Amino acid sequence: NRLKNGLSKTRKGITEKVDIILKSYKKIDEELFEDLEEVLITADVGVNTTMDIIQELREKVKERKISEVSEIRGLLKEVLREVLTKGETNKLNIDPSPAIIMVVGVNGVGKTTTIGKLSSRLKSEGKKVLIAAGDTFRAAAIEQLQEWGNRAGVDIISHQEGADPAAVIYDGIQAAKARKIDVLICDTAGRLHNKKNLMNELSKIFRVVEREYPDARKEILLVVDATTGQNAVSQAKVFKEACDITGIVLTKLDGTAKGGVVLAVQSELDVPVKLVGVGEKISDLQDFDPISFVEAIFE
Ligand code: GDP
Repeated sequence: NRLKNGLSKTRKGITEKVDIILKSYKKIDEELFEDLEEVLITADVGVNTTMDIIQELREKVKERKISEVSEIRGLLKEVLREVLTKGETNKLNIDPSPAIIMVVGVNGVGKTTTIGKLSSRLKSEGKKVLIAAGDTFRAAAIEQLQEWGNRAGVDIISHQEGADPAAVIYDGIQAAKARKIDVLICDTAGRLHNKKNLMNELSKIFRVVEREYPDARKEILLVVDATTGQNAVSQAKVFKEACDITGIVLTKLDGTAKGGVVLAVQSELDVPVKLVGVGEKISDLQDFDPISFVEAIFE
């Protein structure tokens, strides 16, 4: 199973350590909680989220009068599941069509790859997909997207390098309507000079979307790189202030033992993780399902 393979490093980083700790304790005491806390923080679950998780664990132990160390593993799984399922749904809001997915994020996080993988996935599910190359700042970005489009068998609407991104999105929307496209996926520029600049760029695009495609379902997906750990969380905070992110895509989960960042991003931003990247291949993009995620790291 792909998710399981993609999370093998995280499984080592969290579960193996948890199991070693649990074996070394005969009874449940404060020191045990502190050791578990350290494992979660090391796995990039984030300090606040970790504190909440451990506190919840303490309370459950007390409430249920649990005394066996062996029961902690199951209890921890239960708490993690609760943390990951308490917010909004993790499912992409694209049905029924038409839908438009705006993909935002800084360069290098895996935006292009994610668009390629997602368009291929949706197409294989029988949807009509179109890509708009809204990152006009780099010629290479347009070319790369074109390559992914070719691989996925999905058409691309693009302009010259330097063109107005909002004009590309406008053309994308007109084409999507004319061709009865189910899902239009829009790339956006990945430059992050400062928040004001980012807001200006994005808000111009969003205005076009609101005006030209009012009936479409809208997703604004922020792509962040899981290997950057807590930086991914702070990046997400900046974007959340600049636009109404509806979901997060966490890429490169296969490359890190710190997959705990899923918990940090989701609970500290209160925005659901919707997709995870678990490799470089076109098929290495998964819907994020909290239950399978917890199962995969604890197996
Ligand atoms: P962009 O600048 O945000 O568009 O980033 P790209 O899509 O070009 O990706 C940057 C690098 O990250 C490329 O080498 C991708 O192959 C790699 N990448 C993207 N997603 C994943 C993933 O889920 N796992 C791994 N291992 N690599 C990824």
